[in-house]
Amino acid sequence: MATMRCNKEARGGMEAMTIEAGVEPAFIRRAMELADLNAVRLALYQHTRDPEIAALPPAARLDEAQRALLIDRAAAWLERHASTEQVAEPAEDDLRALMTLATGKEMSDMEFAARRDLPGFRRFPFAVDWQGEKPPVPEGFRIAIIGSGFSGIAAGVQCEILGLPYTVIERQPEVGGTWTINRYPDVRVDTPSVTYEFSFEKGYRWKEHFGRGEEVRNYLAHVSRKYGVHDNTLFSHDLQSATFDEARNLWVLEMATPDGPKMLEANIVITASGVFANAREPAFEGVETFRGRIVHPSKWPADLDLAGKRVAVIGNGSTGVQILGALAREAAHVSVFQRTPQWISPREKYGAPVEPELAWLIENFPAYQNWWRYMATAALFDIHDLQVPDPEWQAKGGHVNQANDALRDMLTGYIHKETGGRQDLIDKLVPDYAPFSRRPVVDNGWYRALTRDNVELVTDKIVRVTETGVVTEDGTEREIDVIVAAIGFDVVKYLAPARYTGAGGRDLHATWDEGDGPRAYLGEMVPGFPNMFMIYGPNSQPLSGGTGLPAWYMVWASYAAQAVMRMLEEGKSRIEVKQDAFERYNRALDQQAANLLQLTREGGVDKNYYVNAAHGRLQVNAPWLSPDFHRMCTVVEWDDLSLS
Ligand code: NAP
Repeated sequence: MATMRCNKEARGGMEAMTIEAGVEPAFIRRAMELADLNAVRLALYQHTRDPEIAALPPAARLDEAQRALLIDRAAAWLERHASTEQVAEPAEDDLRALMTLATGKEMSDMEFAARRDLPGFRRFPFAVDWQGEKPPVPEGFRIAIIGSGFSGIAAGVQCEILGLPYTVIERQPEVGGTWTINRYPDVRVDTPSVTYEFSFEKGYRWKEHFGRGEEVRNYLAHVSRKYGVHDNTLFSHDLQSATFDEARNLWVLEMATPDGPKMLEANIVITASGVFANAREPAFEGVETFRGRIVHPSKWPADLDLAGKRVAVIGNGSTGVQILGALAREAAHVSVFQRTPQWISPREKYGAPVEPELAWLIENFPAYQNWWRYMATAALFDIHDLQVPDPEWQAKGGHVNQANDALRDMLTGYIHKETGGRQDLIDKLVPDYAPFSRRPVVDNGWYRALTRDNVELVTDKIVRVTETGVVTEDGTEREIDVIVAAIGFDVVKYLAPARYTGAGGRDLHATWDEGDGPRAYLGEMVPGFPNMFMIYGPNSQPLSGGTGLPAWYMVWASYAAQAVMRMLEEGKSRIEVKQDAFERYNRALDQQAANLLQLTREGGVDKNYYVNAAHGRLQVNAPWLSPDFHRMCTVVEWDDLSLS
């Protein structure tokens, strides 16, 4: 009989506890039924090297007998070996062989380099440490990190690893970034929590498979405290401006605080202010006359009571879709204003609690958690391919390529199923552009909510807001008490509202406006803005998402850290990207982006925030294949940078 133990270190540093409880074989078997059998196969093989286990096909192709064999052997192993011990990273060749076994596909060296940290065996995956003697850090040297959301915490932890002095500046009174401000009903992650946690702090005891906003906030607060970032954070400090002092190679930061303006000097600035910091304001004619409440979900009032109210929900992006079900259950009537239909996909176990058996398995089956993470991300390795049109396929009458069109069929079928075949809804809901042209939206019961008696779907354009309602172009005025403006964010306003003034008094936003919108080198650096690195800057969101954003936050932070360490090593005080390297990079980026669905007619071109509508260029995403981009962001091209 195995033992159930919950270990503080292993599970996210919750209350220290040791629960000694018998775990019956039947409990372990139930855990197996809930587990990712691919991860079970890998973990079991890693421990036993049983050739019969290695010979099994991926979980989806297991026949009854093979499935039974896997479960029997894993259950038997667990009855003797269950433990909360973390498994050390296998030797490189072995790790590569295990990763190949996991997907059944050989990897290039570059793919292996980009993915080897995904299972998270190393203590600090994706981060950089220093081999040999560290360069001395000059007296008073300081890095300022702007923002304490996921990426600011990543940057802080990276500084902790290297012993670099840093201060995090956070405008909110607590850590969490976007998760601090977004407190609307039913807010939660829409990627599995196993891929939406840091690899250096994995195995958090998530209550649900897709953690709720509050849990994500708690997780981030926990990480920030555990790794010392919290103690280096200035809360309620709102950065107003950052000005580079060329005489001293320092950034001078001005902040608004509850105690009045404050100033801080830093040798390096790492911005980690996210892309969703600036809520779009509704600009409908007459909106200022509305006598009810207008609410952006990122500013949800804690006292908002919708019982008996007539509500308008404008927008059907990730937020509008996530929020509708909860509002419809509370309000008297909801009018959903849809401007453009979305492709909205189901997610298995969305909204479901993590089953106790599975929670036990995650904690007590060594290496299961590593391979679970790996398999969850491996499922997305080929997503890039969905976004590249296939001319041959199109010549035969296809929309994009075979896989994308198959997805389109599947999602169309889903709309039919979820609406109960209601043709009036289906006609309005099936998009005329391809899936993946925009950020995929996850269904939180949105289609079903539209079939409720108290919900209507409105596709006529909003032309005006009156004192008491919303008027559409067909002349209809709907009486409304509360407008929920789920209309998204001014994504192109990177780093705003703070003002950044670089060398020669150049304003960053003016520089971008003179060109074709925000651009950067690797999403991180802009010429003329020395000693400044951006995390999640322009064109940095990997299209293939595959490795999960928390891993990328670490990768970007580690790039900045490498640059800083080199600067210290050489005793220099100024580092920046060269103009020609920036231009070369951006030319290649534009060329690569031109091949993608997002910029084609099938993609609807500027119908989404990935594309900068004013300039018709890809704005948010990095168009590269994920392993290529990973290499660019981890193997620094020193010739592209100038140090002085
Ligand atoms: P969004 O994706 O930009 O969607 C905005 C919605 O508002 C769209 O439906 C848009 O219509 C509509 N809209 C904007 N202006 C309008 C107008 N004047 N009239 C009518 N409709 C208008 O914004 P979001 O839903 O807030 O999501 C932003 C991002 O936040 C997501 O892509 C995701 O990355 C993140 N997010 C994540 C989660 C999560 O679960 N993890 C949840 C929420 C948000 P058009 O389509 O016609 O432009």
